[in-house]
This record gives sequence, C-alpha cells and structure tokens, in this order.
Amino acid sequence: MVVLQKNHDCSAELREVSLKATPIRIGVLSLLEETTSPIDIATILKELKKKKIVADPATVFRIMNSFVEKNLVREIHFREDKTRYELASKDDHHHLLCQECGAIEDISDCHIEGLEKEIITKKHFLIKSHSLEFFGICKNCQK
Ligand SMILES: [Zn+2]
Ligand SMILES: [Zn+2]
Repeated sequence: MVVLQKNHDCSAELREVSLKATPIRIGVLSLLEETTSPIDIATILKELKKKKIVADPATVFRIMNSFVEKNLVREIHFREDKTRYELASKDDHHHLLCQECGAIEDISDCHIEGLEKEIITKKHFLIKSHSLEFFGICKNCQK
C-alpha cells in the first residue's frame, strides 16, 4: 500500500531551496524517493555506496540536517538510538512498527482532525504538526 513518488528532477528541487545540487545531495534525495519506509544514516550510506557515491557519515548527517531545515525531509523517531528520515512531501501518514521483525508499514487517515480542533479550542495551542507512531506486532509475526 505504499505509493512511490513519481520521478522528478532532484537537482531542481535542491535549487528551489537554495542548496547546491551536489552528487551526494542528489543521491540522498533520490534514495529517499525510492524507499518506502523511513531510513537511517547507516542505511543511506550503504545505499549510496551501491550507487557508487562516496560519502562519509558526517557529511550525510550534515546533509540530512540541512534537508530537515529546508523542509525537504522529516525526522522520524521510533524509540531507537537512531533517527530515521523520510520525504516531507509525503501526505500525512503514520507508521506501524513491528517490535518483533522491525517491519515498518505506513498508515494514512489518522482521524486526528477532531482532536486537533479540540486542542485548539480548549488549550489555545497553535498546532503546526503532529507525529503518531504505533508499536506492536505485525500480522506475520502473530502467526
Ligand atoms: Zn513483524
Ligand atoms: Zn496524521
């Protein structure tokens, strides 16, 4: 149920947010477009290597931070000692993380609009975003 994004021009996307379209930046961005679930720095490095793009962890870390700053990418935290990243342009969706096998599945429709309205009315809190991840055991691991 994961819909891959249509191929588009990563370098144009980078120029739009005033980032130089370096091979590593283009590589990371297109990698995030190809992957269906949030990935961490180690995975990004491994995949870049497969694409014959040479990068060190510090560089990729800096790139991810600049992508987050420019709103190209969003950080996802799964109660692990690492940060995962996914494209910020994906529609509002959430993740189901299997604590047995580590599989991550997307889920859309979080039905959170009602709750947000309530928070705004009751707490006068200006909501800019929300994050909601589910932890449990996937269908396969329940067998
Ligand atoms: Zn599982
Ligand atoms: Zn949501």
